[in-house]
Amino acid sequence: MLSTEERAVVSTVREWVDREVKPVVADLEHADTYPEKLIEQMKELGIYGLAIPEPWGEAPVSMPCYALVTAELARGWMSLAGAMGGHTVVAKLLQSFGTREQQDRYLPRMATGELRATMALTEPGGGSDLQAMTTHAARVGDEYVINGAKTWISNARRSGLIALLCKTDPEAEPKHKGVSVLLVEHGPGLTVSRDLKKLGYKGVETCELVFDDMHVPASAVLGGEPGRGFAQMMKGLETGRIQVAARALGVGQAAFDDALRYSQERESFGKPIWQHQSIGNYLAEMATKLTAARQLILFAAEKFDAGERCDMEAGMAKLFTSEIAMEVALNAVRIHGGYGYSTEFDVERYFRDAPLMIVGEGTNEIQRNVIAAQLVKRGGLA
Ligand SMILES: Cc1cc2nc3c(=O)[nH]c(=O)nc-3n(C[C@H](O)[C@H](O)[C@H](O)COP(=O)(O)OP(=O)(O)OC[C@H]3O[C@@H](n4cnc5c(N)ncnc54)[C@H](O)[C@@H]3O)c2cc1C
Repeated sequence: MLSTEERAVVSTVREWVDREVKPVVADLEHADTYPEKLIEQMKELGIYGLAIPEPWGEAPVSMPCYALVTAELARGWMSLAGAMGGHTVVAKLLQSFGTREQQDRYLPRMATGELRATMALTEPGGGSDLQAMTTHAARVGDEYVINGAKTWISNARRSGLIALLCKTDPEAEPKHKGVSVLLVEHGPGLTVSRDLKKLGYKGVETCELVFDDMHVPASAVLGGEPGRGFAQMMKGLETGRIQVAARALGVGQAAFDDALRYSQERESFGKPIWQHQSIGNYLAEMATKLTAARQLILFAAEKFDAGERCDMEAGMAKLFTSEIAMEVALNAVRIHGGYGYSTEFDVERYFRDAPLMIVGEGTNEIQRNVIAAQLVKRGGLA
């Protein structure tokens, strides 16, 4: 349950989205323009500090509130929610596992948005099988020397801090024990080599990174001790998956809102189209599934805040919400008829943005694997 203050935070963001984002989103999207002004306003609203507590930030909000803020941003433009997703995961990683020095170095500037952060897991050779990664950091004296490549890294060009998942001991068995998170800042040896062209998620950059003998201090290992990165990142991905689920919720909500409005304005056979049973049925199912998705997200978020393991719940929320967001976006296209296929209406954008949440932050096939493994481990549903 959200406190009164948290409800006010969500409604402030909702009003900002309606006032500042909705009127400009189509132009920004179609020109694929970086939303400089909106990102600056998000910083002023405190969105980059939502997950960062004192002494580095101000009062952080609960995970349910964070999820609903994310959904509001995505309701306006999924790209805006994407521009703060990885940042929050890195903020949580620093709070949970960082040394005090690492926390003091990064969190105060991350709380204001002056410093943005992203995480780099995926490699050209694969994103699902993370333990097979080849990016490698070799210990040389009191430094690590990094070589390798990452791809599909969101916000990489504008993020001053990259939480890099890499191997510090490629021979380790089991393999995950040789994986670390390195806190990397841009510098010699790191090249942002290419901005990838995308179906949706326009405006913010998604890039390839090349590490060529990049030197970082040994103190860049998250928490100071190598070999813990895989477990650290899996915990971070609980936040990431709740965030991606919330993004899908926002996109689905926007598609539903547009469809509900259009179905009352558009007439055929002498009546508003919502009165045709087929269209009414779409609306009823869209609303029902969105309501269920919202509850799944809040359930996972509450478990997270209770300090409980919630990879299964976050996985369920991400799996269900992203799949229904795709369905809702398609049905919104159907309800708009030919106009649903027009770039002058927003529904085509929802349809292009929705698949990202199916693929990103661990594909939905991987979520099913996580859920099934946890069901067996936990002996079923509690
Ligand atoms: C726009 C965008 C932004 C992104 N941002 C980031 C980012 O900021 N940071 C980052 O690290 N990554 C990012 N990613 C990468 C994303 O997380 C990966 O694309 C995703 O994890 C899948 O990895 P892959 O593309 O290598 O697919 P693969 O791992 O090659 O998978 C291909 C297919 O095989 C399936 N598959 C693979 N293994 C299994 C299995 N064991 N069981 C069942 N099915 C399986 C997959 O589900 C998928 O359908 C982003 C991706 C996109 C598109």
